Amino acid sequence: MPAKLLEGKPIAEKIKEEIKKEIEALGRKLVLASILAGDNAGAEAYVKSQKKTAEALGIDYQFHKLESNISESGLIEFIQKLNADKNVNGIIIQMPLPAQIDYKKISQFIAPEKDIEGMHPQNIGKILFGKAKIAPCTAASCMELIKASGVDLYGKEVVVVGHSEIVGKPLALLLLEQFATVTVCHIGTSKAGKLEEHVRKAEILIVAVGRVGLIKGEWVKEGAIVIDVGINRVNDKIVGDVEFEGASARASYITPVPGGVGPLTVTLLMRNLVEAAKIQR
Ligand code: NAD
Repeated sequence: MPAKLLEGKPIAEKIKEEIKKEIEALGRKLVLASILAGDNAGAEAYVKSQKKTAEALGIDYQFHKLESNISESGLIEFIQKLNADKNVNGIIIQMPLPAQIDYKKISQFIAPEKDIEGMHPQNIGKILFGKAKIAPCTAASCMELIKASGVDLYGKEVVVVGHSEIVGKPLALLLLEQFATVTVCHIGTSKAGKLEEHVRKAEILIVAVGRVGLIKGEWVKEGAIVIDVGINRVNDKIVGDVEFEGASARASYITPVPGGVGPLTVTLLMRNLVEAAKIQR
């Protein structure tokens, strides 16, 4: 039997209903400040989708377009103004940033209580202690999709492929918090020729690399849950990192690409905004 699809949209719709109630309980209009430095078609499309989701939830989406030649200190100054602005509840910096700006440095200047991407070292640190109120959206999306499958993570063999700061690393911590047995694979695993061996053991497999067909369908364990985070453009089509047909013939649940992780991330950004507003209160 082919795998059941784990779609992000219905989960996102449920979470949006909860967000609306939370905003009502807060009793004020929330403001999200979004910064884009320079021109980037991909980032602008993402901004559009954030704005649409925010406005549907009654959130005021303030968009700040900055020059592509802005200096690091200029951007820090801009962020600090938003930090000091009592009307602003959350700040997001759109990627990619111009080459002269180091995101790792910049992310430390967003006030932790306004860091709705969950990338400030203080927020990342809270994940380590199992006290995260604001987690990076893509990692949190994977957790929501796993939850929707109904599986209990306790003691499960989970393999995460990809160890970036925004997905693999925070996700491994969130999974450990649920007592999963977590293996994190990356380029080193592949270079050592051990990726297949690890993937074959996964009861839950999460892949966030950005390489078409990296995970062969026949590597997927019978009955596994597969979350494909990868986004790759092939002849004007978006595909993931996992061979979808082969994998869905073996898995019990699988996310479609597009339509799995993607639709959830923007909604979870708004949930983080609500959490930020609660912390500020
Ligand atoms: P990244 O480039 O920061 O990290 C890539 C990771 O893949 C690294 O850990 C690297 O070691 C590993 N890797 C590279 N080649 C490998 C190989 N051959 N075998 C095993 N591991 C390998 O990427 P990222 O920002 O984490 O994004 C990963 C993918 O997820 C991209 O396709 C990105 O577009 C997608 N993504 C999707 C969403 C979404 O909302 N759906 C959000 C964020 C990222």
